[in-house]
Parts: sequence; structure tokens; C-alpha cells
Amino acid sequence: MLSTMQDVPLLISRILTHGSTVHGASQVITWTGEPEPQRRSYAEIGARSAQLAHALRDALGVTGDQRVATLMWNNAEHVEAYFAVPSMGAVLHTLNLRLPGEQLAWIINHAADHVVIVNGSLIPMIAPLLPRLKTVEHIVVTGPGDRAPLAGATARVHEYEDLIAGRPTHYDWPELDERQAAAMCYTSGTTGDPKGVVYSHRSVYLHSMQVQMTQSMGLTDKDTTLVVVPQFHVNAWGLPHATFLTGVNMLMPDRFLQPAPLAEMIERERPTHAAAVPTIWQGLLGELLARPRDVSTLTHVTIGGAACPPGLMRAFDELGMPVVHAWGMTETSPLGTVSRPPASSLGTDEEFGYRLTQGRFSAGVEARLTGPDGERLPWDGESAGELEVRGPWIAGAYYNGPDAEPLRPADKFSADGWLKTGDVGVISPDGFLTLTDRAKDVIKSGGEWISSVELENALMSHPDVVEAAVVAVPDDKWGERPLATVVLREGADADFGTLRAFLAEEAHIARWQLPERWTIVAAVPKTSVGKFDKKLLRRRYADGDLD
Ligand code: ADP
Repeated sequence: MLSTMQDVPLLISRILTHGSTVHGASQVITWTGEPEPQRRSYAEIGARSAQLAHALRDALGVTGDQRVATLMWNNAEHVEAYFAVPSMGAVLHTLNLRLPGEQLAWIINHAADHVVIVNGSLIPMIAPLLPRLKTVEHIVVTGPGDRAPLAGATARVHEYEDLIAGRPTHYDWPELDERQAAAMCYTSGTTGDPKGVVYSHRSVYLHSMQVQMTQSMGLTDKDTTLVVVPQFHVNAWGLPHATFLTGVNMLMPDRFLQPAPLAEMIERERPTHAAAVPTIWQGLLGELLARPRDVSTLTHVTIGGAACPPGLMRAFDELGMPVVHAWGMTETSPLGTVSRPPASSLGTDEEFGYRLTQGRFSAGVEARLTGPDGERLPWDGESAGELEVRGPWIAGAYYNGPDAEPLRPADKFSADGWLKTGDVGVISPDGFLTLTDRAKDVIKSGGEWISSVELENALMSHPDVVEAAVVAVPDDKWGERPLATVVLREGADADFGTLRAFLAEEAHIARWQLPERWTIVAAVPKTSVGKFDKKLLRRRYADGDLD
């Protein structure tokens, strides 16, 4: 028997319409570096998104599921593209502006982007690539920045504001199939070549609702969220959509991502929530310790993308900015788990331990652990295996061109269709995930596994250490051994002996796991989304040479 319910497709246009009417007064606030930030209401965003869609269709001829790419910071125009492009039926392709030009050109050609909307400040990045772009017919420029490098382009160049000016502020959004492609994002290639993940209207809609649940980010129209996580990185963790569902204001840092302007924005615009990867928060912490600011409104900081070091969580607690740890990946839209301690642990010694885990699985995300021989492992908090997940906002394949079958590599998808995350960990009987490492980062020493993350966290809890990344280096006797790359706090004089002793005596790391090879650097190299670049470190130290 079928239900008697209406069958209304879950479309991004419905998120836009809801946000721009029911929450029309909520705002996108974009940092401009001027005395006053730019403020745009959700009602204005709704009207301008309709104008942008008209411009894309009528002036640039975008039809069907053509790809419209963005090479942009987090700002109001990027939010407009987020809504206009999928709502009209086209596909939004967010480009990672930290990628080397070669990879960007490859990705643009692979996705067959028709239009690129670019921030003026990023013209120097796109201009040299133009001769190599095979499908781009239009470049749309918005915001400050010298246009001169685009002078010789064969693609037509347009000004965003001129293009949308005077067009209708209403668009009859088409009634699409909710399973149709809405947006695409390539993985940042931390562990291999970039792979295209294509989100559907349905997956984005359901994911946004889940982001908003009290057990996840749980924000309301009283909140302002500082969206540091880039819009090019897994849909800014779903925040631009989730905020339109509930009227949360968005504070967008644009290109001002350095610790000092971030601290200033928090003090002046008083956000209540913020989201970013740990390296951003390590930088902000240093800034706040050196130059204290009023950050008292910020009472909820979502940290994900890499393990949150315990030292960082403690330091943020002391500053009155409690951290909520979350896990996800490009393939999972991204939110998979959020670490909200169970009610029974609140106020007990166990609470902090729960907060440090990657968290409990979100409703809708099914999880299982698989051992080295493909066996299912129990949720007993001890059996470590590879995490596999499935759910309505989890990828089931990778994009392989418009007319090609999607890719389902056996190392990424199980025979029965679950996503193999490449993350290794344990799950407790009450459903909390603790990741010990990425399969590719684990150090295999004499048949035993050493967790690089455990060593890093232990090192970063030493008061003299700002950053620490540990990677495997080849070793004749043991196969692999850990090598620690450490950044010391300014003026600190800890040496390897001191740090080794600290690991053994204070952090209780087993002696056989202690690194013998150490190097002190000015900064740990980062990937395009701000994580430690372990692939590069492994390459750099592959021959055991520390210079
Ligand atoms: P990339 O794979 O290129 O780094 P993603 O952003 O998709 O790009 O990264 C997802 C990966 O990041 C996960 O598979 C996991 O290894 C890591 N990760 C994300 N969140 C956490 C977390 N809270 N703790 C530990 N690792 C995390």
C-alpha cells in the first residue's frame, strides 16, 4: 500500500525560498577589510539568486545540467551561486583555490565547466590557466581585484553586478527530480588523485536538516555562525544550506583568514558558533594568547576535518569557547559523527573523554567496522578496523564524466555498496567512534601498528610544541618507524631528548612506539584544506635524510 502523503521533491530551491521568506531578515555578513562589513539579508540573497539564475540562463545560455564553477572565498556572492545554480537545474562546482594550477585545470576540464564565477582577488590564479581550459566559455568576476590579466581571454568576461542588474527578482524554479545532481566537489587529494563527488538535491536537503539537529550543530535564529571552513571544502560542511533552513546569520571571512582578522571579526560581530579545521584554531589560539580579545559570545566551536588535539580542546575550554568535535569527509557531505557526550556523562570525569572522540553517528548514517580479512568487528571499544558507512548523503561512486559510468573502485566501495572511509578506529558499545588513524598514515612497525595521531596529540600537549606531525619512514629492521616533525613555540628550547622523555613519562607512550627520528621546522606543510600534508612529509623524508 502506498502512503497518502504528497510527493514533494526535496530541492535546494525550497531551502532558498524558505530562508529568503520565513527568515528574510537574517543576514550574510561578509568581512571586507573596510571599517564596515557588507550586510545582505536573506531576502536580498533570494532576490539576487533569482537575478543570477536569469543571467546565467538568458545571457550566458546555461541549460540543463551544465556545470557552473566557483573560484571564490566565503562571501555573499558565493552564497548566491550556491542557491541560484542548483535551483535552476545546473550543477554548482566549487573549486578549491588552494590547489596548484595544474590540478585546478585538470579538475575544470574533467567536470567540463561552462562558466567560472571568480572573485577579483583570485584572477591571478585563473588567468594563467585559461589557455588550457577546454570547456569554459564565460568568466564572471565579482569583488575587488585587477581585471587586466583577463584581457586576452578567449572566454567572454563579465562583471557579476552588471550581469544581474535589472533582471527579475523572482524565478520560477523548475520542479526537478530530487536525485538530480546539484553540486560537485573534488576530494582534496590528501591521499591520492582528486575524485569527483556529486551531491544530489535530496542528499543536500537531508544533510542540511541533520546539520541543524540539536545533536549536531543545533543552531537557531539567535545564532551567528562564523563560517571559516571554506565553501569550496565539502559545501562549507553544509552550513550555507542549514542556516537558510533556520535563519542563522552567517559571518563570512572572505579572504581574511589570518588569525588577527579572525579574532577581530569575533570581537566585533560577536558570532556564537564557528567551524573550521584544527590548524585554523591553533593559529587563533596563538593570537588570542598573545593579544587577548573579547571572544565571550563564541560558545560553540565545531572542529573537524582532522583529529582535534586534546591540548587545543583544553585551551579553548579555558578561553570559554567549548569545542564540539566532528568527523566527516568529502564523500559524506560531510557530517558523519558529532561528539556530544551522553547526558549520563555530563559533569563526570568521563565527559572530556567523550568529547575527544570523533562522536556518535548521526541519524541516517549507518556504520560498521571491517577487519583486515573482511570480517565484521564488534562495537566493543577495542576491536580496531576500517570504518565503512552508508546513508542518504554518503557517496556511492565517483564522477567519471557526463556519459561515463560512475567509478566504484574496490578500495573505496565494498561489494555491497558501503563507502570504505580509509579511517581506522574503534566504536564503543554506546556508538561513539574513536579514530586511531587513517589507513594510509598508520605506521607499521615490526608487524604492530603505531598511531600517528596518538603521537601527534601527545606531542602537541607539551607546552613548548605548537604543531607536530608524525609520518612513517622506511626502516631496514622494522619496515617502518615514526618520524616526528615538530614546530616549537617562539623562544622555547625543548630538545628531542626532553620531548622523548615527555612522551614516555607524561604521555605514557610505549617505548617501542617512541620516534627515534626528529626534525624541527618553522611550519608543518599543509594541504589545500589546511591539514598536515603527510603525503609530502613522507616523500620528503623517504630516504631517512632529515635535511
Ligand atoms: P582529504 O581526504 O583530501 O583530506 P576530506 O576533507 O574529505 O579531504 O578528508 C576526510 C578525512 O579527514 C577523513 O577520512 C579523516 O581521515 C579525516 N578527518 C575528518 N574529520 C576528522 C576528525 N574529527 N578526526 C580525525 N580525522 C578526521
